[in-house]
Amino acid sequence: MSKSRGYAALSAKAALVPYIFERREPRAHDVVIEIRYCGICHTDIHQARNEWNDYLEESIFPMVPGHEIAGVVTAVGNKVTKYKVGDKVGVGCFVDSCRKCAECRSGLEQYCTVRTIWTYNARDDEGQPTYGGYSDRIVADENYVLGMPEHLPLDACAPLLCAGITLYSPLRHWQAGAGKKVAIIGLGGLGHMGVKLAHALGAEVTVLSHSLKKQADGKRLGADHFYATSDPETFSRLKGSFDLIINTVSAQIDWNEYLALLKVGGTMVVVGLPEKNIPIGAFALTGARRSLAGSQIGGIRETQEMLDFCGKHGITCDVEVIPIQKVNEAYERVLKSDVRYRFVIDMASL
Ligand code: NAP
Ligand code: ZN
Ligand code: ZN
Repeated sequence: MSKSRGYAALSAKAALVPYIFERREPRAHDVVIEIRYCGICHTDIHQARNEWNDYLEESIFPMVPGHEIAGVVTAVGNKVTKYKVGDKVGVGCFVDSCRKCAECRSGLEQYCTVRTIWTYNARDDEGQPTYGGYSDRIVADENYVLGMPEHLPLDACAPLLCAGITLYSPLRHWQAGAGKKVAIIGLGGLGHMGVKLAHALGAEVTVLSHSLKKQADGKRLGADHFYATSDPETFSRLKGSFDLIINTVSAQIDWNEYLALLKVGGTMVVVGLPEKNIPIGAFALTGARRSLAGSQIGGIRETQEMLDFCGKHGITCDVEVIPIQKVNEAYERVLKSDVRYRFVIDMASL
């Protein structure tokens, strides 16, 4: 074991504070990564505040959050073949899985039927807590480490590891592309990547945001249309419009209203994770053979594909880089939708 420094929540809802903890010694297939940047995902806040205990196990404290990790390899185990010292690499939401089940074998490790080992707020194969990226370094198996786009800035690429893949995966699975009308609900960290990626895939993109405040940004990011959901007119005007809607909202909104915006046979994919259940009426689905679906991040192979796609198309996240001492303030600003469009911690400040 060796010491690592970071920021942790010591209990649910407590402010994050400086924290020293142990990381494992690198094994034969491990790489040691000096973390340069880590994005702040809304999931970090949900978990640090133990908001999902209706669905998941209680959060594990002390918790070092962070799963949008970008850095540089500083050491490798003696059997590592994929990476070498100096490579720009990333770690996303998980650091291991069973590797044997049908899902793992088909590259869907995020749906491992045995156990996906999450980057933080989980226990590793030895029962030790995992600690995330609000810290100076991480040790991870090479098979769960990603290669970052060589020619794009590392800070603006860090959030691709969660926000990017969480939108890329459903956009690809439900075939967003030329001739398809796609709506993104919520222009936050996930939503703004949805706009950029759906646009790059060739779809006609609409943003459904709670006000028109972010309209100019939406258009700049690649949206063709932008509507405020606080205006009831939006729902009558857009009835039956979309092939695909991706809902990134973290709050309780009425999903039935949005289902009505789908064409016959359209699909709404939920990626945002509100604290409480949202009731759905059967008629919202049956009348037009609509589907309500969900999606969770993406597997390692698809995450690498997304990073390569972003490298090729020059796609990065719009980030506000902050020192780690401002993490608690950043959390409050995320909750107020006051971020354009992802906070990224500069780990040099640690
Ligand atoms: P975020 O940056 O806070 O964005 C959420 C957006 O939702 C806000 O920018 C806002 O957009 C909208 N919103 C917030 N409160 C609202 C309200 N009361 N009514 C209507 N709209 C509201 O969060 P994020 O990091 O993108 O994450 C979004 C959600 O996805 C979180 O619940 C997170 O846990 C979840 N998530 C899921 C996955 C997955 O794999 N499924 C992965 C990562 C994150 P407007 O200002 O445009 O309305
Ligand atoms: Zn995330
Ligand atoms: Zn598995």
